Amino acid sequence: MTAKPTCPAPEALGPTITIGEILVEIMAEEPGDGFLQPLALIGPYPSGAPAIFIDQVAKMGGAAGIIAAVGRDDFGEVNVRRLARDGVDTSAISRSASLPTGTAFVRYRPDGGRDFVFNIAHSAAGDLAMTDPVRALIERAGHLHVMGTALSIPRAWPILTAALDTVKRRGGSVSFDPNLRKELMSAEITERFATVLAATDLFLPSEAEIFLAGEAADVDTAAAALIARGVAEVVVKRGARGATRYASGSTLECPAFGVTEIDPTGAGDCFGASYVTARRLGHGPEAALRLAAAAGARNVTLRGPMEGTSTLAELHELMSSGEEA
Ligand code: ATP
Ligand code: MG
Repeated sequence: MTAKPTCPAPEALGPTITIGEILVEIMAEEPGDGFLQPLALIGPYPSGAPAIFIDQVAKMGGAAGIIAAVGRDDFGEVNVRRLARDGVDTSAISRSASLPTGTAFVRYRPDGGRDFVFNIAHSAAGDLAMTDPVRALIERAGHLHVMGTALSIPRAWPILTAALDTVKRRGGSVSFDPNLRKELMSAEITERFATVLAATDLFLPSEAEIFLAGEAADVDTAAAALIARGVAEVVVKRGARGATRYASGSTLECPAFGVTEIDPTGAGDCFGASYVTARRLGHGPEAALRLAAAAGARNVTLRGPMEGTSTLAELHELMSSGEEA
């Protein structure tokens, strides 16, 4: 009898890897609408959803590596230094000879919404290639986390499919956070989404994003359909309302911790990274969910998307002092 692979694959199989954009974020100090007049700005803060995710994996003690590209500029240096300091393998981050590091300018609106000015597609973030260090990282990986934002980076796609094939062949596992809005789903991205979902062991959507996987009457029905299709675990993120984990024959609710939200960007990335890492390190679903909720909560209390990534000690401190909302 062959043993069924455990989900997600244990830490010993190799590092958790991800692919996608590394950015700096520069934010308006005062809330308001857009960027139509001179504003006081603060930054650069290391950012990019895959970068935040992988930083959180490493800070929690998981082996971690990222495939990405930055420019030969300070914005790239800020990111690479931060990731390396926190323990991420940066060997597969290349430096574009001609393009600057990607940027995101963000301003919060008084109603909690956000206005952005992005430079991602025409920045170094899009300048990925299958180099020797990229191949080497993929070949030793135990788990691939796919961030949906990478589906719209044309040069990321061949690397992502190669990583999916290799990781699966090694007995590794795949998690998928859509991080995509419905308006971004072109025919091409819809097709890529389906390819990734078919290989996904652990799906980590927000409430709205679960319906990108297929129409359904409600979240429970959508999750049940995914489990029936072979996704081992679905964890739905609901911001300050917590999260729900669905698996075959079991549903677990995980309340959020009560904290004051300063900057919501990155909560989902930290939550997903902590859940994956805790599971890979051998924690059961309940314990992993609590660590993930603590990581999401702690992230929103600090300004800057990557400033609120947490060590295991910081998560335990929040869990022992924090109140569940
Ligand atoms: P994003 O893509 O904007 O990072 P997301 O939709 O992927 O967000 P969220 O649901 O916003 O992810 O956050 C993930 C988890 O982090 C939540 O399930 C919750 O546990 C925690 N969290 C997020 N916001 C808060 C908050 N304001 N207070 C407490 N916990 C929070
Ligand atoms: Mg998200």
